[in-house]
Amino acid sequence: MAFRFLPFRPFAVLVLALWTSWCSARTLALTFDDGFNPGKQPEAVQWNAQMLEALRDHGIKAALFPSLARMEGAGGMALAAAWARAGHLIGNHTASHRSLADPKVSLDWFIADVQAADAAAKNLAGFVPMLRFPYLKEGDTPAKRDGMRDWMARNNYRSAPVSIDASDWYYNIVYAAHLKAGDAGKAARLKQAYLRHLLDRAQYYDGLAREVLGRSPVHVMLLHTNQINAAALPDVIEALTAHGWNIASAGSAFQDPLYAQAPGTLPAGESVIWAHAKALGVAGLRYPAEDAAYEEPLLRDAGLLP
Ligand SMILES: [Zn+2]
Repeated sequence: MAFRFLPFRPFAVLVLALWTSWCSARTLALTFDDGFNPGKQPEAVQWNAQMLEALRDHGIKAALFPSLARMEGAGGMALAAAWARAGHLIGNHTASHRSLADPKVSLDWFIADVQAADAAAKNLAGFVPMLRFPYLKEGDTPAKRDGMRDWMARNNYRSAPVSIDASDWYYNIVYAAHLKAGDAGKAARLKQAYLRHLLDRAQYYDGLAREVLGRSPVHVMLLHTNQINAAALPDVIEALTAHGWNIASAGSAFQDPLYAQAPGTLPAGESVIWAHAKALGVAGLRYPAEDAAYEEPLLRDAGLLP
């Protein structure tokens, strides 16, 4: 009797495979903060071009959140404009790159800082009124957190949170130090450690999302415009893809309802999934969620510090 079902078996296998891949599908978008500074980074033009080339070669539309203080002038803004021309979203990362969790930063001062960056970037093609808070810090008091949320609602602005946070900026510092010391071998090994770090953080935040949201959202990963990403972005993309990640456009990722939510934590901010977990009282969350302090011992043990 079992033979009667044989013709249907390939179909059943196909359905099962599709179901399994749908259930385990993981998708993320890439977003980059800060922008390059040609005044301080002699390789800025080259690094910017390398990052754009990697995204173009892999058919990826990302988002750039430039901060005026990190670009320092027209040269940096011209490099940000190249992202806009390449079809990437451009958002707002403030003029001065100050933390809203800093007690010395008032709500009014921070709003003026956001408005200054808005005025400088809003004429770029691809500009969207979305704010990426510096250091992912969204306020240290209810008045600042809620005041900024009110301002955004009244001014057609949206927050641009991340779901996957990481410490690419720290790996970049170590990578640059190895290259400056002429140790290409250590830089290459550090790059491999960097890929493992990003895969690990992506897996961690996806697991946390499944725990607190009951689903895997379309993730938004935080990276920066820096030397290690200029060198490693093709490897980053290929490593993510090889580990089962689909890469979506930043524009489509921000449509996930997760990014319209505003968890009631204080200090506010970090990954939006981390904030949800914090609000729900999930045990074992570290603060800050990501930092060099966690990566430095790992790299020291691996013999990868300068
Ligand atoms: Zn930044």
